Amino acid sequence: MHTCRNCNQSFQTELALELHRDTCKKGQLFCQVCGDRFRERDATQDGWHYECPNAECDGEGLTEDLFNVTDVRTAQH
Ligand SMILES: [Zn+2]
Ligand SMILES: [Zn+2]
Repeated sequence: MHTCRNCNQSFQTELALELHRDTCKKGQLFCQVCGDRFRERDATQDGWHYECPNAECDGEGLTEDLFNVTDVRTAQH
């Protein structure tokens, strides 16, 4: 079972999860370092200091400038 860490929705296959992550409404922040998407509340504690929640990513101690807020709704058909 593969679970989206943004919205906790579960998928049977890793491919299904990958496809979902492109359109996940709760994965609105996009890290320019590792290319991962995640929720804003996963990246910041106080809304000021942002860190990439990916443990393998160097995007730590960074500001909001590193992240693009992607409008995933427009990518859905
Ligand atoms: Zn999701
Ligand atoms: Zn990152």
